[in-house]
Amino acid sequence: MVDAEFVFSQLSLSDFADCPRRFYLRYVLRQPWPQIEPTPEGMEVLAYRDFLRKGAALHRWIERRWLGLPEADGAMAAGLVADPEFALWWRRFEEEDFTALPAVRTPELELLAPLGRFRLTARLDLLAVDEDTGRAVVVDWKTLRGERAQRPEFLRERMQTRVYLYALAAAGAPYRGGANKPDDCEFHYWMANAPEPRWVRFRYDQDAFDQDRAFLTMLSEDIAARDDEAEFEMTTDERKCAMCGYHTLCRRSAAVAADLRDIDEDVDIERAIAGVEELEY
Ligand code: SF4
Repeated sequence: MVDAEFVFSQLSLSDFADCPRRFYLRYVLRQPWPQIEPTPEGMEVLAYRDFLRKGAALHRWIERRWLGLPEADGAMAAGLVADPEFALWWRRFEEEDFTALPAVRTPELELLAPLGRFRLTARLDLLAVDEDTGRAVVVDWKTLRGERAQRPEFLRERMQTRVYLYALAAAGAPYRGGANKPDDCEFHYWMANAPEPRWVRFRYDQDAFDQDRAFLTMLSEDIAARDDEAEFEMTTDERKCAMCGYHTLCRRSAAVAADLRDIDEDVDIERAIAGVEELEY
């Protein structure tokens, strides 16, 4: 179902870990998304689309700011600035103190790391590197909603955290002054919607790198060993279906998210940004 040319990512591995059938539908069958979109509990479809659009715009504005370009202009920019939620995110970004980050900063960087007989891609929002010490920090901008902050242990175990730290340690050497030690790597989430402190920071080390390499390689080999649709089973955890675009196809429309803190909803923003590019792999 996948061959040696297949490039894994945090999105595809997250899909497989959540539900093998979702991986099959999205990456093997390339089944288009159904018309009826799932939304977080209590949110209308149009409001959710607007939220995703604003999240994608925030990423683009931040990228352009790091590149020294004007964020945007025209009616669309005026509309975003007039939106209270977007304006709050942007004001918080502009007021943030980034002096603790290493000095050499590259936005929107793609790393391609080896993963057993496969490859793994990671699209970083920002990589900040100290060329003298080798310290390398991945920064990820998040617009997760909700009154309650994400639990650090949930964020640490997110597929994105594990994939990005692994990819940085495995393939980031050219950006890190030639050093290649997991101990030099860090992952920092910046939460646009959270009260202070908005940072959630994780360090890395050799043990975590070895565990992540083994775990991610195991997942890729598990996927590669499956031969037909029946072997990509539907998840038994129907909470995963609540935010899945295939819920009508799978007849799991009655699923309700029990705890939205543990639903990785902003993966949808990453998909909105990535668009269909990833499916090109
Ligand atoms: S609706 Fe549920 S069973 Fe179907 S692909 Fe999505 S997560 Fe899997």
